[in-house]
Amino acid sequence: MNNVEGFRSSRHYFGPIPVRAIQLHVFVDASQSAFAAVAYLRVTYDNNDVRVCFVCAKTKCAPMKTMSIPRLELQAAVLGTRLMDTVKKSQGLSLRDSASPYECEDAENLLIRRAQCEAFPDEVRASYNEESVGHRSDIRGLAPYLDDNGVLRAYGRIDAALCIPHSARRPIILSHRHALTELIVYHYHVKMKHQNVDATMGDIRTRFWITKLRRVLRTVISGCSVCKLHRAQPAPPIMGPLPEDRLEANGWPFKFTGLDYFGPLLVTIGRRKEKRWVALFTCLTTRAIHLELAHDLSTDSCIIVIRNFLCRRGPVLRLRSDNGKNFVGANREAKRLIDVFEPEKIQGELSSRGIEWIFNCPANPAEGGAWERMVQCVKRVLRHTVKEVAPKQHVLESFLIEAENVVNSLPLTHLPVSVDQEAPLTPNDLLKGVANLPDTPTIHEQPDERCATRKQWRIARLLRDRFWKRWTWSTCLHLCDA
Ligand SMILES: [Zn+2]
Repeated sequence: MNNVEGFRSSRHYFGPIPVRAIQLHVFVDASQSAFAAVAYLRVTYDNNDVRVCFVCAKTKCAPMKTMSIPRLELQAAVLGTRLMDTVKKSQGLSLRDSASPYECEDAENLLIRRAQCEAFPDEVRASYNEESVGHRSDIRGLAPYLDDNGVLRAYGRIDAALCIPHSARRPIILSHRHALTELIVYHYHVKMKHQNVDATMGDIRTRFWITKLRRVLRTVISGCSVCKLHRAQPAPPIMGPLPEDRLEANGWPFKFTGLDYFGPLLVTIGRRKEKRWVALFTCLTTRAIHLELAHDLSTDSCIIVIRNFLCRRGPVLRLRSDNGKNFVGANREAKRLIDVFEPEKIQGELSSRGIEWIFNCPANPAEGGAWERMVQCVKRVLRHTVKEVAPKQHVLESFLIEAENVVNSLPLTHLPVSVDQEAPLTPNDLLKGVANLPDTPTIHEQPDERCATRKQWRIARLLRDRFWKRWTWSTCLHLCDA
C-alpha cells in the first residue's frame, strides 16, 4: 500500500507522435478477499516505439458467502469484460481484436528463426559470421544467407526470372525434420483443399524451400484425417498408366513430343488482316516448347510446320496429338485435329522419318494431363498478349520465338537432379546447355507505346514483355511443379 503514493498517471495516452496501432489489454485476477480488473492501452507509434499506459481499474470485495476460487475468477472475468466495454465506449477508439499483419509477420519470423536454429545450428552460425556453410551441410547447394530479419533464405538460381516475387526467388529454408515444417505443409495442404500434390508443392515453393518437400507432403497426407476418409471411399475409375514418354530420363529434348494447334491469331498484311495458326510442340519429358507459325490449316502447311520443327529440334521418336479435344478451325467450327488434316498424308511423312504418331485416346484422362495443362497455359497467355494487336507476320514470328524462350527459361523443379537436391532446372538448360539467360526482360521496362507503333521490332519486344509479365505471374509458379 505504501507504493500507491508513488503511482503517477499521465494525462494523455499517446503524446504527439503519429500512432500506428492501439491495443486494449485487460487483466483480471481474483483472491478469496477481492477480485479486480485493470485496463491498459498498448500504443505502437509509427517509428515502432511502444508505450503502455494505464487507463482504469475496478475492484470488488469478494462476497460474504464462500465462493470457490474458479467462481471468483469467473466473476473477475465478467468484471473485466464490462470494464473493457466501458473503456471502448468512453474512448471511442476503434480497437482491433486480431493481430496486425506486422505482428503476424514478427511472430512468424520468430517461429521460423527458432526452427532454423534448431534444425541448422551450424549453418545459421556460419551465415551469421558471413562464412560459407560446411561441406557436409544438407543445404550447402542453396547458398543460404541471413536476411534483415535473421531468417535463413536460399540464394536461389532463379535470379534471371526477375518478375517472380522475392519470396519465391529467395525462399525461406526449412528442414523436413522440424515439426514446424509439417505444420506449414499441412496448412498449405488444407489451403489446396487436400488435392493436387504438385500444385501444393508449387504453392509452398513460392515462400519456402523445404528439404525433401515431397516426402514431408506425403507424410502429411498420410496423416491427414480428411484424406484418410477420402481414401476409404470407393475408388474412382482407374486412370490409365502414365505414358512412358513422361518418365523418360535418358533421352534428349523432344525425343517424345506433343503437337497441338491453336489459333487463329490475326496478322496484318498490307491493309487487310489474315488468320494464322500456331503449332505448339511440347517436349513431354523436359516441358520445353517450340512454336511454329502455320500459314493455314491445310495438310501441306502442317507438314511444313513439322519439317521446320524437325530440322531445328529433331530427331523425334514419337509424336502425340490429342484427338479428343476440339479446336476451332477456319470456319469457326469446332473440329478435331484429325478432321482438319489428312492423317494418312501426315502419317506418311512422319513414317518416312521413323517417327511414330499416336493419338491420345480421349477415354484416358491421365494421358496428356500434364501436357494439356502446359498447352492451356501457353495458349491462354499468348492469346491475351496478342489480343489487341494484329502485328505484321514477321513481328508475330519474332514474338513467338521470344515467347518460346520465356517459357523455356522457367524453372522445372520437378525434374530431379540428384536424389538429395532439387535444384531448379530450366528447359533452356537442356536445350542450350547453359543456365538461364542474362537478357530475360524485367517488368520495370516500360516500353514507349508511341514509338512502338512506328518501329516493328519494338512491337515484338512489347509483346514479349507483356507475355513475360503475364506468364511468370500467372502460371509459372503452378507449372514449376506440375
Ligand atoms: Zn488432407
